[in-house]
Amino acid sequence: MNKLTDLLKSSRHTVVFTGAGMSTESGLPDFRSPSRGLWARFNPDELANIDALETNQDEFLEFYRYRLNDIKDISPHEGHYILAEWEKEGLIDGIVTQNVDGFHHDAGSENVMEIHGTFRSLYCHDCGKEQDHEAYREGAVHCSCGGPIRPGIVLFGETLPQDTFLKAEEITMQADLFIVLGSSLSVTPANMFPMLAEQNGANLVIVNREPTPFDSHATCVIQDTGIRDVLMETNQILKS
Ligand SMILES: [Zn+2]
Repeated sequence: MNKLTDLLKSSRHTVVFTGAGMSTESGLPDFRSPSRGLWARFNPDELANIDALETNQDEFLEFYRYRLNDIKDISPHEGHYILAEWEKEGLIDGIVTQNVDGFHHDAGSENVMEIHGTFRSLYCHDCGKEQDHEAYREGAVHCSCGGPIRPGIVLFGETLPQDTFLKAEEITMQADLFIVLGSSLSVTPANMFPMLAEQNGANLVIVNREPTPFDSHATCVIQDTGIRDVLMETNQILKS
């Protein structure tokens, strides 16, 4: 933690990259976990697909209603709040996230690039009109125009939000410190960002329970401590 603190203090541009591990520490269930029985009812891989919205619409709508209800009662943890505080204090420039739960916004972070979109917005797939969360969760899954309502996340088969993506690339290239929190960095485009940061001379810090393909490139790798604890301890050292 001391090393991370020193790096943070000496860096002029720090970018944080968060993945699923950040959210699971809030208690957000992994929707792929077989123990939850979701697999018995749904096939998430099939349903997180643009085709499902067209060919398997009833199940698609039911699946996302279920997931939104999952997220509703869960909130950001201390780690999310510390990142928001660090942004206000100028310690970090922004957050690039794979997560769609909106917890960084909820915690007060402002410069957040959600490269896979967000569950915070719901809109009609046909006419684009924004829709109400509560009504959706209660079962109003169609727009007044008759179109299906969908979450503002990126489905397989759809392109990533280009503006957000470009912004994420830009901020990453400026970083002299790039901190990965809870991502296995095993898939594209997630793995693109640490690569980009490194090519531009940034130090890499990786906090993840499992090894990642970038560990050998990192200045500092933390596997044995959770993200929340890493951030809390680092914050404590910073403020002492
Ligand atoms: Zn509509």
